[in-house]
Amino acid sequence: MTPSQPAVLRRGDRGPAVADVRDRLVLSLDLPADAVQAASGRSDAAFDDRVEMAVKCFQQRRGLLVDGVVGPVTYAVLDGSRWSLGDRVLRYVPQSFLEGDDVGQLQDRLVQLGFRPGKVDGILGPETLAAVHAFQAAVGLVPDGTVGPETIRAFSRLGRSVTGGSANALREREQLRRSGHSLAGRVIVLDPGHGGADPGAVEGSLTEADLAMDLASRVDTRLRAHGVRVVTTRTRHTDAGTDEDRAAFANSCGADLVLSLHCDSQRNGPAHGVATFFYGAADHGGWSATGERLADLLLREVVARTGLTDCRVHPRTWPLLRRTRMPAVRLDFGYLTHPLDAALLADPHTLDRIAEGVVVAVQRLYLGDADTTRTGMLRVDDLRRHLAEVRAAAGS
Ligand SMILES: [Zn+2]
Repeated sequence: MTPSQPAVLRRGDRGPAVADVRDRLVLSLDLPADAVQAASGRSDAAFDDRVEMAVKCFQQRRGLLVDGVVGPVTYAVLDGSRWSLGDRVLRYVPQSFLEGDDVGQLQDRLVQLGFRPGKVDGILGPETLAAVHAFQAAVGLVPDGTVGPETIRAFSRLGRSVTGGSANALREREQLRRSGHSLAGRVIVLDPGHGGADPGAVEGSLTEADLAMDLASRVDTRLRAHGVRVVTTRTRHTDAGTDEDRAAFANSCGADLVLSLHCDSQRNGPAHGVATFFYGAADHGGWSATGERLADLLLREVVARTGLTDCRVHPRTWPLLRRTRMPAVRLDFGYLTHPLDAALLADPHTLDRIAEGVVVAVQRLYLGDADTTRTGMLRVDDLRRHLAEVRAAAGS
């Protein structure tokens, strides 16, 4: 956001910053063209019901948290949505990475041509820069990392010879296969949600931050027993900061996977059950196939062991999922506001069963196609024997 803008805009706000948001929503086709703010009316441009609804539509489409409020994350995605590849020169800026749909298109193009820009997330970070360098060198341009007219022309000369948005997914799967079946030596970041001054959802004696921490330590013990290096984003008494901070931390650890743990709440609502979330934005190609696979395994293993309801797997572009360079999955294990879920979560045995499900799901991810276990059947104590059997059957 530009310095003149308040950090958050919501219904009832007025002023030039609101006019700016309205104009961008017209460009993204979420508001009709007549909502464009004329220069004369910018100082009292209103964030009214119609604008709020348009913001919600935009957030829904982009997989953002749908709250109708324009905070830094929504603004960054809204701001980036007006660019198409070629509209502007793209440069790597170390302190604040460029973001936009054009960056996503660049990454898509690089993937199609066999380069490795990292996650297709619309953020121009170091991996994308390295892929631009490699591309420029390969086509005989000066490898300066700047995507200007010459580099764009080189892309169009290469035409559409390589296509298929699933190249990234194939590459992820191949990396996973090559990494082997064993859990030993992997680095896994556990991210218990909230913490410090932020308890998350609180219902009666149950507190989301504490439950997430409790579950994290049960998962931690079991993973360590299988030789995993576990790093946790926070302790019982400290805060881990924003989702962006947590993602940056996981990136700095060079983790293989990130597991974020939360509970849900819904006042006066019937919602209950378990859901998992992975990085995916269907409308511009970003999709973590490994994240999706792990999210699916986690959900099924946890549901099969606990009796919690299956609330399905969902693609999202939340900062923790989007900004992590490795597959990241968020597990929401129950609603504190629902009596059934609350009773289950108050029982430490349930947390043990969820932890078992998490560890088995992670092991099954690395077993890949070699794994023919039925969901809910494998016990953590049997994992070593199971791994040996899978290896023997595969002849490796
Ligand atoms: Zn939470």
